[in-house]
Amino acid sequence: MYRNLQPLSLNNYPIPKILESFPHHPSSSRAFQKPQLIKIKLSLPLLTRRPSSHKNLSISVIRLTKKKQQNYKRPTDSSPLNCLQNTQNLSIFLKLFVQKPKEISKLAEIVKSLPMQIDYLSKVLYLPKSKENEGKKTLFLDLDETLTHAVKNPNQSQVRIKVNDDVVINVNIRPYAQEFIKNASQDYEIVIFTASYRKYANAILDYLDPLNKYITYRLYREHCYDYNGCFIKDLRILGNRDLKDMILVDNSLVSFALQIENGIPIFPWTMDYNDSKLCVLLDYLCILKSARDVRCVNRNVFGLSKLVIDSLSGNLN
Ligand SMILES: [Mg+2]
Repeated sequence: MYRNLQPLSLNNYPIPKILESFPHHPSSSRAFQKPQLIKIKLSLPLLTRRPSSHKNLSISVIRLTKKKQQNYKRPTDSSPLNCLQNTQNLSIFLKLFVQKPKEISKLAEIVKSLPMQIDYLSKVLYLPKSKENEGKKTLFLDLDETLTHAVKNPNQSQVRIKVNDDVVINVNIRPYAQEFIKNASQDYEIVIFTASYRKYANAILDYLDPLNKYITYRLYREHCYDYNGCFIKDLRILGNRDLKDMILVDNSLVSFALQIENGIPIFPWTMDYNDSKLCVLLDYLCILKSARDVRCVNRNVFGLSKLVIDSLSGNLN
């Protein structure tokens, strides 16, 4: 029955062994109407809910309906940009985020009120690009609600991570987060850019990438531009990279305020274990990796700048 199962973006991963199949998840039509959700039981150590329970874990794998499979053209290395002409693809990529007028207007207000000159030079870093990352674009990834989510109640968390002798945090990992980082690092230089404190972020990142293999650099709260309590991520902080080759994935639109078109907004994640946004994002990144200027592609797909302009002129619905 599952012979033809095609996970959306996991082609490069070892095929997990299917242990048991489940009928359709009852909430599939409600939660994710276009792609079809099918629940299967897999043995996949990377996606463990708890470090001690590597077996028999249940995750959701997304496949498109037959109709969608016909229409959806997966980006390929030979013609990545062509797949943007496919409207079905566009609508799937747009599912990475949901337009919330409130958030757009908050971003618009910040953009409007930002000072003309921002002293960012004092924060600029000149981080060398490793030989391995030569020719790759730089992918900045937010942490909280993009890759992970911390909760107060340990009973509601997947993993407990020690920050220091006195502090332990309860963290949930977004589905596919580790695979996403691993796969994306093949085509991108991965930099985590979080507004979290260094110690907290490091503890989580050491869990996500324990061998420090896929994430090249880590940027923290002190690297953000604190604008009246809003943490804006100014990509100019990497002085020896070009903005046309830099992408920021973040659940908070405010983070993009200084370079809106470098941003890929992603729906914030807290605990939906059917979430597959990182798989969709991986496909989108396959397109961006060969773009001459990532900003042009983002502008056409997400249209955030236009939404901001519309918001400022009172035209946003
Ligand atoms: Mg976040």
